[in-house]
Amino acid sequence: PKGTITILGLGAMGSAVADRLRATGHDTTVWNRTPAKTAPHRAAGSNVASTVAEAANASDLVLVVLLDHASVREHLEPVAADLKHRVVVNLTTTTPNEARSTAAWAAAHGITYLDGAIMAVPDMIGRPGARLLYSGDENAYAIARPVLETLGTAEYEGTDAGLASLKDMALLAAMYQMFGGVLHAIAMMRTVGAAPTDTARDLVDWLGALIPIAADFGADVEKREYAAPPGQSVDFTRPALASIITASREQGISADFLEPVKKHLDELAATGRGGAEWASVVEQLTIE
Ligand code: NDP
Repeated sequence: PKGTITILGLGAMGSAVADRLRATGHDTTVWNRTPAKTAPHRAAGSNVASTVAEAANASDLVLVVLLDHASVREHLEPVAADLKHRVVVNLTTTTPNEARSTAAWAAAHGITYLDGAIMAVPDMIGRPGARLLYSGDENAYAIARPVLETLGTAEYEGTDAGLASLKDMALLAAMYQMFGGVLHAIAMMRTVGAAPTDTARDLVDWLGALIPIAADFGADVEKREYAAPPGQSVDFTRPALASIITASREQGISADFLEPVKKHLDELAATGRGGAEWASVVEQLTIE
């Protein structure tokens, strides 16, 4: 894209995006609902638009970094005509269906739409480890790519606009459950006076050593082959989980995070699948 790049939204993430684009030599035009937040960007060299329409008309490429789906629609819908023929990249976190809905709205108004998901915190933008997922209009990706690659590694997931959000949500589902487990362990150990920082160090080592097993689970689920290696069957894992649940409760710690896993394994055992690898629990997660 030639000329200035518009950034709508100057919260923690939008500001990081604007900072990075300026640092990589791009001309930027910014808008934020609360005008005070534009001051440091103006001082650093950005153009400041006082309305969304003005910001939209300034650029061929508009990056949206607002709070949520509702705020995106609230501010983009009134300026649909101003966005016509421009590329809009929505980096706001949304669900896959919200992304698809915005993509359909954009298509109906002649707007070239790409949806994005940011797998990074603001401090990581433009640094190693920052990863951003995109899906939707392939042409929009091709046009925006050189700019997007300055923010972090860019990965295009496909033409279905919901795909970037879907992967975002899947990776976050894993993250929250893993960190839920981390906090469960810290709570258990704190009951005997263990410093949470010490338990956390143990967990970094323990989980770090185990995480490559995820690749084995992926391979088994892909083949739907659940022959259990020693110590990996449903029948082995059920009593292990029962002990962990009992030990948690005996320390006065809730087992709420663990019980659903045990419940699914109990169902597998009750339907004659106790000898299978416990990763076969993935088949229990599909809601019929
Ligand atoms: P902040 O809370 O720091 O900023 C929110 C931004 O959205 C502000 O610019 C705010 O404007 C604006 N906003 C909120 N509601 C409205 C509204 N109704 N109308 C107009 N503008 C509105 O959030 P972040 O910048 O951290 O997050 C922005 C997006 O980035 C979110 O979707 C978030 O999920 C995503 N993201 C953030 C990450 C992070 O670590 N922070 C990581 C990955 C993704 P105002 O200044 O006027 O309040």
